[in-house]
Amino acid sequence: MPPETKQTLPPPRLEIRNLVRNFEGRRVVDDVSLSIQPGQVTCLLGPSGCGKSTTLRMIAGVDMQDAGEIYVDGELICDTLFRVPPERRSIGLMFQDFALFPHLTVGRNVSFGLTERGAVARARAEEMLAKVGLERFIDSYPHELSGGEQQRVALARALAPQPKIMLMDEPFSGLDNRLRDGIRDETLAVLKEEDTAVLLVTHEPEEAMRMADEIALMRDGRIVQQGAPYNIYRAPKDKAAVAFFSDVN
Ligand code: ADP
Ligand code: MG
Repeated sequence: MPPETKQTLPPPRLEIRNLVRNFEGRRVVDDVSLSIQPGQVTCLLGPSGCGKSTTLRMIAGVDMQDAGEIYVDGELICDTLFRVPPERRSIGLMFQDFALFPHLTVGRNVSFGLTERGAVARARAEEMLAKVGLERFIDSYPHELSGGEQQRVALARALAPQPKIMLMDEPFSGLDNRLRDGIRDETLAVLKEEDTAVLLVTHEPEEAMRMADEIALMRDGRIVQQGAPYNIYRAPKDKAAVAFFSDVN
């Protein structure tokens, strides 16, 4: 357990401490710390190239930090010596191009990551598809669904194994503008029903304002400001933050 976590409070669902990642002598993630409670959505918001995806990949366990620690429910899952493999981290993932398997039915896509098989797996797929309003498509194939529907299936798939943490990297950027706000709202409603901690990466201030309980504003590998969306919007810390938020109305 991290030393200064009080015994009386439950530890955060996800806590990262002082993460550092260097590529070719350049520090692209520079001393990043964050904690997220179950049921909370934190947005890592910042311009392209600031180190958001690299941060996410270290939490997912597909990249290894050069310094720092990652804790889940107060338990160390990764530092520079010790590493729980990605598949044992109880993490759900969604990316922009996190495509469904085209040769599997929607139901099989959703049950893909489950340890259960057969009727139990199908029942779980049905339950998850009902949450996103798509149970009627359980025996359809992905190409029979619209882009927005496929996105909702991907959400159902990511949540089916009841991950402790959801990591979402620009998950809406491949969607048509007209659909995006609706799908953001639906996704948020589904996420809020689960007891999962969500880290959502985006370069769009509008998306962070709409979805986040807390925003961590990132620039050049560092978190430069952190807080409730409205507070950051109302009181950006510096000129770069003001400029970054200027296109949000
Ligand atoms: P973001 O997701 O915020 O757009 P990234 O985390 O993808 O940013 O990248 C941060 C910086 O690290 C970028 O300059 C990128 O080019 C660099 N980078 C990312 N991955 C690698 C890699 N595997 N090798 C070298 N440089 C990388
Ligand atoms: Mg990225």
